[in-house]
Order: sequence, then structure tokens, then C-alpha cells
Amino acid sequence: MAHRLNQLRTSTLTTHDQFTSLSSTVTSSPRTPGKKLTKGDPIVTGIRLRPFLERESAIDETSAVQIFENNVICTQNSRPQIFKFTHCFDASAKNKNVYDGMIRSAVLASLQGYNTTVLAYGQTASGKSHSIFGSSCEEGILSLSIHDLITMNGNNHLKFELSFLEIYNEKVTDLLAIPTTSNEHLNQKSSTKSSTTLSFSKHARTHILNKLVPSSNTTNNSTRTLEIREHPLLGPYVPDLKYIQVKSKEDFQNVLNLGNQQRSVASTNANQRSSRSHAIFTVKISRIDLPQSTNMRLSFGLNTAHSLSNIGKHATLSSSSKKSAKQQAQDELDAQAVRLNFVDLAGSEKSQQFNGTQGKNDRFAESIHINQSLSTLRNVIDALSRQQNHIPYRDSNLTYLLKNSLGGDAKTFMLATISPSSTVIDETINTLRYAGLASTITNVPRIKTPHLRHEIDELREENARLKQELFLVKSKSMPSIHPTINKISLPRIDECIQTSFLLEASTSQEELINDEKLDTVDEEILAQIENQCRRPKRKRLSEQPLHEIAKVRQIDDTMLHRRLGTILSYVTDDFSIINDNGILVISNELNINVKMNSSSWTNALERFDRDVDINSMTKKEIVDSLNVLFDNQE
Ligand code: ADP
Ligand code: MG
Repeated sequence: MAHRLNQLRTSTLTTHDQFTSLSSTVTSSPRTPGKKLTKGDPIVTGIRLRPFLERESAIDETSAVQIFENNVICTQNSRPQIFKFTHCFDASAKNKNVYDGMIRSAVLASLQGYNTTVLAYGQTASGKSHSIFGSSCEEGILSLSIHDLITMNGNNHLKFELSFLEIYNEKVTDLLAIPTTSNEHLNQKSSTKSSTTLSFSKHARTHILNKLVPSSNTTNNSTRTLEIREHPLLGPYVPDLKYIQVKSKEDFQNVLNLGNQQRSVASTNANQRSSRSHAIFTVKISRIDLPQSTNMRLSFGLNTAHSLSNIGKHATLSSSSKKSAKQQAQDELDAQAVRLNFVDLAGSEKSQQFNGTQGKNDRFAESIHINQSLSTLRNVIDALSRQQNHIPYRDSNLTYLLKNSLGGDAKTFMLATISPSSTVIDETINTLRYAGLASTITNVPRIKTPHLRHEIDELREENARLKQELFLVKSKSMPSIHPTINKISLPRIDECIQTSFLLEASTSQEELINDEKLDTVDEEILAQIENQCRRPKRKRLSEQPLHEIAKVRQIDDTMLHRRLGTILSYVTDDFSIINDNGILVISNELNINVKMNSSSWTNALERFDRDVDINSMTKKEIVDSLNVLFDNQE
């Protein structure tokens, strides 16, 4: 098989034809991505084959896996199977090649305002951590991403904050919250830590923490298990997670070292430095050149020039501990920032792989948790790919936190890493099958623009005007649309269409765009408009009246919160909704401060839906109706 592939590679004949003939001699995996895609963006999936490790070369003569163009060919019991993927990286690929070929798009997506997740998936020792975090010889894709982010932020209009959490035995721990008065946390894990872990003295850690977090009070930083909460708009998140602002690559490296030092790492037979926990490294990106209330309202835009010289050297901590209602509301605003997540999963091993390993009981107990969450991850992938109604996100903390990334509104990039070794070929095939399934999962990415809503009326008008002008172009009554549709107004159309508040499909625009009479129109502009028109438009549940929502889901506090948020957002971005033994709605602009229990809110909203038709009303009429609604409650 390997010989035939070599022949294919070196052949001067038509490689494609030869490969096609090879393909016809092998069995394609029955679960190779079937193209039953629905509207939205499929999870971008790439395969990375790592080279043989020294210890493996003694066992295997040739690789059990070959990569040929976009095909991964596995040979098991002399029977080859082919899997096809969008991105394939063979054993010669470096992290930089993986970054350039696949992951840079994830970074660009986050800069456009999408929550984005890069997920490293694969059996233990297949190269997940190597890909994400790199090694002493090469930078990982995380570091390469940070490099690009910082370089692109030449104008300093973006703020980057980092968080680093691990899920270890189903407990979520903040890897950046360092115990300085108690060594409890580190001691607790020291028994499981490899001596080859990044060597980082306690003194060095404290020094770095003081440098990055000058004002932090570290005395109470004992290890805590953090809770996951579900935000009505943003999905599951960890409210008390520490975020550290970074302004340079050096800051980033310090934060990374700090977190990695605490990450649970243990020695197993399969992988001398096997990661024992799932880790999620998040880069929170927000704009700092806009008022807080309009933060994140536009796509971030790109600025690829500039050096790092503008970037300041001081870093500050963005988290706070006390939670007043105002702070909570502020946190909610803060939660609107875009997140670029890097997920490094723990390795999964069969239990016999622990034989002879020190601390094998601990390892075995860990493996139960690890395998449980990995099998839940597979169940989630499976359920999504089958488009089942119930997706078991809540069966593990890992999948719960990844809810928006798997079938949600984030952009997701899965890098499945595989080993060339014949001894783990069954696990490799399993990884490829799940990666194949993942590539059939469709997310519906949405730019995070909750504060944009007050502009919707204005944008509607502008959109209508632009449609009309396009129509005029079609009928050749205007020579060109350049004067009116320029590069400033296009991003606004973009926003307009991306938000779920402008839902009308612009079929007339599409017809126009396809019309060859538009040859005078700038191709680039047309391409952009066309792109926007093709984006999926899905009416959000909370935009429906309450009685319609009740037909498809239970009206609970979360739903009431969402519905209230949607209604208020039609007229203002200055509001907070807080669940606190009832639902509290505050808006300075509308002079509202009302707290009621769920059933009162249900009644009020039902009345509102009955009396008010938001779609046909002006902003002022909606405000008047809201005032009547809230006055009645006070
Ligand atoms: P995982 O995180 O999937 O359990 P690791 O990333 O820890 O696996 O990799 C296991 C071993 O293989 C490590 O020693 C790592 O340095 C090595 N390795 C993995 N991928 C590569 C690669 N692409 N090139 C060179 N060495 C690699
Ligand atoms: Mg690992």
C-alpha cells in the first residue's frame, strides 16, 4: 500500500486518475462525511498525522496511515479505508503549516466578530497538545494565533484578555487563579505531575503574577471549583473565571506558562506527558475605541500592518470579585465580547495501558472521568450529525461548555490528530469517523451584536434605500452604484443582515445580482452583497410572541429574560435584565426599574404581545407601549 502511494506521489502520469483507480480498490468508510448539510456553516475539520515517535519506530516499519491530498488512507489488517477531509496535514507538516492552512481562518473569523473555537480532538499521544501549545522546538497554533492578533492590532483598538481553565475529574478549575498562601492546589496535583512539565518555580510564578496582575489580592486565591452557568443570550459560561489582559506576546507567554504549570499532567505508558485534564484557553477580544454600550457593535475589521512597538507593556486584571447588581449587569455586557477558544482535550486510554504505571489507581479513576466526557462528546457529535432533537450537552461539563461551538452560533474548527502507529489503528479510525461526523454538523454563526439593536430602524431604512438603488441600476437608470453603495455602507448592510433583526430575505437583490446587466458594478462590492444574501437567516425564538414560543418550549425564567431582552432591544441598548428571585428590568433611558415574579411577567408579556405589533410600529410607539406596560406594574 505504502509502495503504491509512493508510486502515486512520484509518478509523472496523471496522479488524479491513478488515485481514483486506487480508491476503487478500497472500501471507503461508510461514515465519511455524508453531505446532508443544512443551512449554516459546517464545522471545519482537518486531520493531522504526526510523525513516528522514537519508541514507535522500533515497532512499526511503515506508517499505517497515509495522507494523499485530501484523503487519509488507513490500513487495518491489510484492508485500506479512505476518509476525505477539507484539510489534511501529513507527518512532515509543522504547526506553522497547520496554522497557515487552517487555523488562521479561525483567527480571522474571531476578528470579524464571531465566537470561534479551535478544538483539538484525537486519541492520547496523537499530538493535540503539541499542535495547540507547541514544544521547545516549534510554536503552537495558539502562540501563532496570538502573534497574528497582536500584529493585526496595530491601532490598539482591540483589547485581548486571556483565561485558562481546566476540567479535571469533571471539576472546572481556573488555571490562572494561583494559590500563594496555600500550596494545597499544587500539592494536590504534584503527585500526578510529570517531572518534564514546564519548570517554573513558585517564586517565578509569583513574580509573573505580580507583573501581570499588579493590583490582585492573591491571599484568597485558593483553588476553587468554578460553576458553569447558562447565560440566556450567550449560552454556558464560567462567570467567575479570571481574565488577564495582555498587550504583548511576552505577556501571553507568561500567562500560558502560568496556566500550564498548574495543569494536571501525569505520566502514562501511552504518553509520557499525557494531559490529564481538558483545557480551554480563551482569548477574549473586545473593542476599546467604542463606548462600552456600543462595544462589539461592528465587525472588528482587520488591520494587518504595524509592528508590536505600539503595544504597551503593562497588563491589568479585568475580573472583579464583588457582584453588585450593577456589576452583574456590567458582567453581562462584558460577556458580549468575542471569544476565541482553544480546546485541548485530555487523552483517552484503555485501562490496560496503565499497567505498571505509578499511581495507576489514580490514573484509572481519572480515565473514567476523561473517557466519560469524551464519550459524551462523541454522543453529542453523533446526535448532532443525525439531527436528533435531544443533544446530551449537559451530560458532561466539557460538552456543556462547548454547547455553542457544537451546533450553536460559533464558528468551529476541529483539528483531529492521529498517530501513524499500527498499534492504535482502531482508535485512529474511530477518530477519523467522528471527525467525519463532525464535519456534517452545521453551526449558524452569528456576529455578536446585541448593542446594535437601537440602530436597526436606521439600518432598515438604509437597506431599503440601497435596494431601491440597486433596482435602479438594473433598469440602467443609473450608471454605477459607487457613489451610494460604498465601502462604508457595506459593512452596515453586513451587520444589518447578520443580525437576526433584519430577516427579510432580499430575493430581489439576489435576482439583481445575478443579472448580467450589472456589469458596471464593482465586482468586489457585488461579491460582498451576494455573500451576505446567501447567509442563513433564522428567526430567533425570542422574536416570536410568547404564545408562539409556548408551542415549542416551556416558558421559564430564561425564556422570559430572552423575550424581554428582545423587546427592549428594539428601542434601546441601555437596559439590564437580572434574574434575582424574580426578574429585574432596569433601563435609565426608559426610566424603568421593575421587578416581578415569573407569572406576573408572563401575564404582562402576553398582554403586550396581544396589544402591540412591534413589526408595524415606530420606535416611539413601541416606547409608549412599553411605558404603559411598565407603568402598570410599578
Ligand atoms: P496528546 O496531547 O494528543 O496526548 P501530545 O501532543 O502530548 O499528544 O504528543 C505526544 C508526543 O508526540 C509528544 O512527545 C509530542 O512532542 C510528540 N508529537 C506530537 N505531534 C508531533 C508532531 N507533529 N511533530 C513532532 N512531535 C510530535
Ligand atoms: Mg495532550
